[in-house]
Amino acid sequence: MTKPAVLILLGPPGAGKGTQARMLQEKFGLVQLSTGDLLRAAVAAGTEAGQAAKAAMDAGGLVSDEIVLAILKDRMAEPDTQSGVILDGFPRTAGQAAALDELLEAQGMGIGAAISLEVDDAAMVERVSGRYTCAKCGEGYHDSFKQPAVAGVCDKCGATEFKRRADDNAETVSARLKSYHAETAPLIEYYEGKGVLERVDAMGEIGRIADDLAAIVGKVAA
Ligand code: AMP
Repeated sequence: MTKPAVLILLGPPGAGKGTQARMLQEKFGLVQLSTGDLLRAAVAAGTEAGQAAKAAMDAGGLVSDEIVLAILKDRMAEPDTQSGVILDGFPRTAGQAAALDELLEAQGMGIGAAISLEVDDAAMVERVSGRYTCAKCGEGYHDSFKQPAVAGVCDKCGATEFKRRADDNAETVSARLKSYHAETAPLIEYYEGKGVLERVDAMGEIGRIADDLAAIVGKVAA
């Protein structure tokens, strides 16, 4: 691998992009870069971009390419990204994918793989509606599928505060699934055309999915 690897995780809300990106970050030392996290931080900080993004996020729609690209470029300009990143939730439109190609070219980086996490839509609403995270370390949990071993205590860091995303409710999830199919799913073909697409069955057990992903990432980011 001559160029630092950029990994792209594609998949609808609830496919496990965030969970898997965090695991890959730990295993391979890549930086997880989630535009959703960056936008939520901008909303919480009340920045101009955050204020402009909030309405679209609350409704489950997409934030404008202009805002998202500005936020992504700022983050990609930080030195820790230079040895490789995992993009989680970006790109989400054809315009973002084209802008990413340009940005990577300018930074001397290349796409190691675009990994499509393949799931059933029907299961996604249940997955997303029940999920929550540790407020301190971000470890993910779920009301039905993954509770902490000791109730109310994070397995990973021992914290006792948890949080749920405001947009993780059944109504907003349907809107998010719709925008995924309309705007983002076509990118699967785009990356297939570039010869970097990998597909992973993301319906099973988290550990097996992580192993499948690690095998792919190991080939391009070892
Ligand atoms: P996520 O955490 O990836 O599910 O993103 C949460 C919300 O942030 C989405 O429903 C969108 O409103 C917005 N968002 C995140 N990433 C993008 C993106 N690349 N393009 C447009 N909107 C985005």
